[in-house]
Amino acid sequence: MSFDFSGKRVLVTGAASGIGAACAKALAKAGADHLALVDIDGDALGALDLPCAVTIHTGDVADPALWERIEADGGKLDGALLNAGIAGETALIAKMDFSNWRRVLGVNLDGLFLSLRTAMRLANDGASMVLTASVAGLKAEPGTSAYGASKAAAIHLAKGAAKEGAARRIRVNAIAPGGVDTSIWDKLPMFADLVEKHQGDRAGALEEMAGYGTPMGRFESAEEIAGQVLFLLSDASGTMTGTTLVSDGGYSL
Ligand code: NAD
Repeated sequence: MSFDFSGKRVLVTGAASGIGAACAKALAKAGADHLALVDIDGDALGALDLPCAVTIHTGDVADPALWERIEADGGKLDGALLNAGIAGETALIAKMDFSNWRRVLGVNLDGLFLSLRTAMRLANDGASMVLTASVAGLKAEPGTSAYGASKAAAIHLAKGAAKEGAARRIRVNAIAPGGVDTSIWDKLPMFADLVEKHQGDRAGALEEMAGYGTPMGRFESAEEIAGQVLFLLSDASGTMTGTTLVSDGGYSL
């Protein structure tokens, strides 16, 4: 029942920021020996300064060549957090550009598939993996269908990989956070408009967002999600596989 990661080598994608960075820090603090960190933003990865061995892989998760390089590197995995993702643009289906659809599905689904394929190939017996889905993959909201479809697919991929990995005691689960205070929001034009409405008060904009249907009335922190990810990556969740851990302040109830 331990959250001790000593002796473990863990892959984290989208590790430069937000949930991925918080998880990389938490894993290092919990004793992980070696982290393989993947992000398109190599400078931010380099700035993480973690107290364990780190291999940095800079690249686009949707680029098969990145995963060929990582597989050629050959390091076996005891864990993986497959987390890189983008929000894309919010748009009603009838008004959505196909290019937006393709961009979101390209990173969040093609990129996730390629990450998962490599993680399954490099996994030691008994490895544990977590796929970052979203409550948007469980509950529909107008304007979020590209993102929601990609996250519903992530939930399914976790189930498929869980069945395929079970004979080797490889566990694969998904997390479905609600609103988490990370920079993903700042890249959304609709959130920028809300911050402007709040005269630049970002916290006020987040509070207004949380007011739309989150019973607990607040966003979560990336560190709170990291606790849940470490639970799923650790032996403490030893019989959980193919599940989706929902952490959304009650939004999906
Ligand atoms: P973030 O923007 O802070 O972090 C995402 C990271 O992924 C960034 O470092 C970014 O550079 C990297 N990334 C993006 N596209 C990439 C690509 N093509 N290749 C490699 N790296 C890429 O956002 P976050 O909130 O920490 O997001 C992490 C995950 O959590 C995403 O999958 C997101 O969909 C999911 N999520 C976030 C929230 C939220 O409210 N923040 C809620 C539910 C799920």
